[in-house]
Amino acid sequence: ERLVSSEADLQESSLEQSLRPQTLSQYIGQDKVKENLKVFIEAAKMRSETLDHVLLYGPPGLGKTTLATIIANEMGVNIRTTSGPAIERPGDLAAILTALEPGDVLFIDEIHRLHRSIEEVLYPAMEDFCLDIVIGKGSTARSVRLDLPPFTLIGATTRVGLLTAPLRDRFGVLSRLEYYNENQLAHIIERTAEILDIGLDYNAAVEMARRSRGTPRIANRLLRRVRDFAQVTGVETITNELATDALERLQVDKLGLDHIDHKLLLGIIEKFRGGPVGIDTISATIGEESHTIEDVYEPYLLQIGFLQRTPRGRIVTDLVYQHFKMEAPHHD
Ligand code: ADP
Repeated sequence: ERLVSSEADLQESSLEQSLRPQTLSQYIGQDKVKENLKVFIEAAKMRSETLDHVLLYGPPGLGKTTLATIIANEMGVNIRTTSGPAIERPGDLAAILTALEPGDVLFIDEIHRLHRSIEEVLYPAMEDFCLDIVIGKGSTARSVRLDLPPFTLIGATTRVGLLTAPLRDRFGVLSRLEYYNENQLAHIIERTAEILDIGLDYNAAVEMARRSRGTPRIANRLLRRVRDFAQVTGVETITNELATDALERLQVDKLGLDHIDHKLLLGIIEKFRGGPVGIDTISATIGEESHTIEDVYEPYLLQIGFLQRTPRGRIVTDLVYQHFKMEAPHHD
């Protein structure tokens, strides 16, 4: 398991539950998104209506699920959670929809992975709060319209580009979550330390924040792993020195890059003189699937400007040579 992976592993999910902020004011960062949601929530409450359907998108671990829970809390309604791949047949979705209470939030994670046939059930449900179901077979088949309780759909996706236009168009609110800055992450780490009763110096929080790849999930994970080091050494408070030492041993470097990032970047430098090199060639040389490279390894390296995508392939930038204290080749 990769320490700096932005996906949660199974064990982690239940722990994350306890770390989730419950209200918008406890939710750190994402100010623009929060401001807008605050207005929409207040307006919906004043009109005693359900909130418009909300689409949250952005990389894993940035707080989409958390925000969905908070929206339900702030609206004072229940949340029912499912995910695109979990809904296998149209009937599965119909069962979920008919079980909702008026005003409830239905949260569908990874909504881009919904089957097309299931999406079609969702359209009238989102638009008119009703279900069209077909009863009978062949010549006796007829369509019946069922009313649903009004509800708010909150969809989350890491790949907004994969959403079909008809689905995307049925969301009234589209909010993109951004990577967090160091300050915000340090704040999140301090908050988690308080909940888990971990003694922590502010400088240590900043050091962990710097290595968290802009992602709260990773920040919280690094904190827990560093705490392990503190515990076995019998230290009460995590200092900057302890945190730095632990993170070095965990092979998470100053920018939050690990051995896999290093392998990828150094591979391009050593074998392809820094690129450009095609994704399939990279895939073959480092022995990782190209879609894994594109979905998992690359996004953060692109985000921090270490990699660039060009029509002729990937190139590493001068920042990478600086990071590894290497001399950049001269281009002519
Ligand atoms: P996503 O659904 O985008 O993958 P989650 O909502 O599951 O991300 O968030 C992952 C973890 O990060 C959760 O444990 C949550 O407590 C924490 N987290 C995310 N965003 C924030 C935030 N803005 N403030 C505090 N903690 C956060």
